[in-house]
Amino acid sequence: MARRNIVTVGDRILTKKCRPVTKFDERLHQLLDDMRETLALADGVGLAAPQVGILRRAVLVLETNVPEGEEEYVIELVNPDIIETSGEQTGAEGCLSVPDEYGIVRRPEYAKVRAQDRYGEWHVFEGTGLTARCFCHEIDHLEGRLFTEICDRMLTEEEINGSGEEE
Ligand code: ZN
Repeated sequence: MARRNIVTVGDRILTKKCRPVTKFDERLHQLLDDMRETLALADGVGLAAPQVGILRRAVLVLETNVPEGEEEYVIELVNPDIIETSGEQTGAEGCLSVPDEYGIVRRPEYAKVRAQDRYGEWHVFEGTGLTARCFCHEIDHLEGRLFTEICDRMLTEEEINGSGEEE
């Protein structure tokens, strides 16, 4: 595994729509492994392939809603689609590609996602709270959309000194 550079806002790569993954080969596995390491080192909760410069539909989401005493784990989503949502949450959101900035973004409280794994098998994943927010945020990246475009407003510096999540 190797850490990859995270592309930041201003780079046109982040505005482009990603193409589906069609080959579930060693190259994809290498990309996902590198993304895992990059996400862990950046201490984030999600990462999309375009954030490491690859215009393919693959994202990682850290599942943080785990029972007490169990480890958080990374979900790999290849060619993901949101197939159901419900409820609403409003909260601060950030992005590893928009360092040190946060905005108030409305997202569904619950999201169900259909996606392939690294071998091409289809699965359905459900997320609530931060996980649902992260599903939506990362899949937006595949459409070339950043949270800064859909947020109600950005947080001020004073507000940021409170709390925020990087995705
Ligand atoms: Zn992001």
